[in-house]
Amino acid sequence: MKGYAMLKIGESGWIEKDAPQCGPLDAICKPLAVAICTSDIHTLWEGALGERHNMILGHECCAEVTAVGSLVRDFKPGDRVLVPAITPDWNSLEAQAGYSMHSGGMLAGWKFSNFKDGVFAEYFHVNDADGNLAQLPAKINVVDACMLSDMVPTGFHGVELADVQFGDIVLVIGIGPVGLMSVAAAALRGAAEIIAVGTRPNCIAAAKEYGATRFISYKDGTIEEQVLALTNGKGVDKIVIAGGGVDTFDAAIKSLKPGGKIGNVNYLGSGSYVNIPRVEWGVGMGHKQINGGLMPGGRLRMEKLGALVAAGRLDVSLLSSHVFAGWNHLEEALFLMRDKPADLIKPVVKLTD
Ligand code: NAD
Ligand code: ZN
Repeated sequence: MKGYAMLKIGESGWIEKDAPQCGPLDAICKPLAVAICTSDIHTLWEGALGERHNMILGHECCAEVTAVGSLVRDFKPGDRVLVPAITPDWNSLEAQAGYSMHSGGMLAGWKFSNFKDGVFAEYFHVNDADGNLAQLPAKINVVDACMLSDMVPTGFHGVELADVQFGDIVLVIGIGPVGLMSVAAAALRGAAEIIAVGTRPNCIAAAKEYGATRFISYKDGTIEEQVLALTNGKGVDKIVIAGGGVDTFDAAIKSLKPGGKIGNVNYLGSGSYVNIPRVEWGVGMGHKQINGGLMPGGRLRMEKLGALVAAGRLDVSLLSSHVFAGWNHLEEALFLMRDKPADLIKPVVKLTD
């Protein structure tokens, strides 16, 4: 079969590989549409996972099941499915402890285009099919379905990690597709005000649609000065970090009320330490919590978030700014994500109608 692979750091292309084999609990799937992720760019061009040779890229898609193992109960060839980017081993001790995304080791629930071939291929392998796949609701089109692999669950997890409650003033730092889904999730959770940090006009327009009430740009001065000016010097209740780098925590701690919580879903690709300002962290006693996490994957999560989209409570269509048709546009879509033109939110490649 053909797959689009990372040949080595900084080099990619189409390769031939044997089609994956199905174990008793597994499924083999064929993508119906795939989306490119910022993480594919970190992996391929920044070497964020280290060197990988001939590893097929991609972890965002929806798919059709083509084969299932003898012990798979709830899926059969021909089913159209939602596929989470994170596919835990549900019988692991980490999953039993409530941290399925770390099954088998820290971050090891992330398998596609990390520990095994990803979804930019004619066929791909899904471990624990009953635990990880979900039926694709008929009301969700294949492009929107791709947003359920990673963008929705990650953006929503940022809001869970920040523990957003009714009436909170929430700051969302970074309004790429992940941060946009954090804005939407904060609104669904009943935030009173959502301050979004971002610069790109189409992301600002989408953030408004999703419920952001105020905007600041990190290019107009420090985030904390602008947040404190908007909140009478008090700061915000909760913060979701979905962009920036190790220094963003400095701005976040300075923007947060005592007792506030930070939910980080941003991938910190460089730097040795996260910077936390001592004084504004209450000299260690400010009750300012920092939580950071990889998105939860798995079937239940996909079913619940899929239900939200199918019910019309969450419109993910604003995210897919560039939609292509056919595998021959995959590389163009990937390069577009790397080059990030100002009007880009998310490139998606449809492989069926
Ligand atoms: P993106 O690059 O499209 O968006 C990031 C946004 O942050 C951009 O709009 C950018 O303008 C903004 N930004 C950059 N520097 C900033 C700064 N100093 N202060 C404030 N904002 C700044 O990326 P995305 O696809 O939305 O993903 C966001 C992050 O989430 C990425 O790091 C991605 O790798 C990560 N991610 C994490 C998980 C997870 O499970 N935790 C899953 C998927 C993606
Ligand atoms: Zn992704």
